Amino acid sequence: VCPTAAITEISEIDKVWAALEDDSKHVVVQTAPSIQSTMGEEFGIKAGTIVTGKLAASLRRLGFDRVFSTDFAADLTIMEEGNEFIQRFKGNKQLPHITSCCPGWVKFCEHNYHDLMDNLSSAKSPMSMFSAISKSYYAEQTDIDPESIYTVAIMPCTAKKFEKDREELVGDTDAVLTTRELARMIKEMGIQFATLENEEYDEMLGAHTGAATIFGTTGGVTEAALRTVKEELDGEALGRLGLGFEGIQEATVEIDGQEVNVAIANGLANAAKILDEVRAGNSKYHFIEVMACPNGCVGGGGQPLPTSKEIKQKRAQGLRNIDESGIIRKSHKNPMIIKLYEDYLHEPLSGHSHHLLHTKYQKRDQN
Ligand code: SF4
Repeated sequence: VCPTAAITEISEIDKVWAALEDDSKHVVVQTAPSIQSTMGEEFGIKAGTIVTGKLAASLRRLGFDRVFSTDFAADLTIMEEGNEFIQRFKGNKQLPHITSCCPGWVKFCEHNYHDLMDNLSSAKSPMSMFSAISKSYYAEQTDIDPESIYTVAIMPCTAKKFEKDREELVGDTDAVLTTRELARMIKEMGIQFATLENEEYDEMLGAHTGAATIFGTTGGVTEAALRTVKEELDGEALGRLGLGFEGIQEATVEIDGQEVNVAIANGLANAAKILDEVRAGNSKYHFIEVMACPNGCVGGGGQPLPTSKEIKQKRAQGLRNIDESGIIRKSHKNPMIIKLYEDYLHEPLSGHSHHLLHTKYQKRDQN
């Protein structure tokens, strides 16, 4: 059962069309990492084909004022969450550290494992970080009234609609469309997606790394975080983790002379197994990644249909190909993230960062 009760798509297409037609609004759009290797399927392109350039071009033709990438904020999430993990690991407190970028997983935790909520990262998800930055830093840099900025997120799942409306996050993101909903808008406008010339994301909130792109598949958040954590703590590059695609995956990484044990839970049933061990005091893990959807966001409920394990593997390989294509691969090397800290946030976990980029969770009995 979907933990957010978001099995059906409550469409926000009409809201987005209205915003695009409203001259008083400056409408920015962000696309989640996984969409780059899934959207093509809606237009007859093989699963796993990278369509980032066509995606950017189609969004401009729909009329968005700026076309940005959630991947930028995935790099920002790594800066905040990676440093949060370093603090916890060095102080041996609030361990294991558990990721919190998947709203399906967070709600499951709030219902069933609320005694472990302090172990969740307080970092907002990339979607919500992006939206907060678009209405603060971006508004300031461009001299646009933040009240007029309308932020649309293209996401792999309906659970992100639930995240948008959480009382802790309300106001960050104005509308969420799934991959399938965006495809409907592109088709409605008669845009020939498959033959579009590639275009780039807009600057400032569009620059991103390979680390951010692999957020869209299982194990990606862990690998991205450890690339930054290891380099910050011992100055050495992270080797391959060699993670598989299903079940519970684990790895041990040596960082600054100490072993860091990580686990990746594919789906909530596997998360429950790991968390029961944590509860019982038998867990050896320091860092746990949980994604509600088996295989991560490439298998999200808003992605193109049909899907299968083979299709999800192709989508994941597409994201891995971007990571290995020669672009910058570490979040802390993203030049726009470096500039964001220099100009605005000052340092990870600063007071300003906490105010804009961190959140809290609530024990839930119902809803
Ligand atoms: Fe959404 Fe599934 Fe990704 Fe979680 S794992 S953010 S529920 S697509």
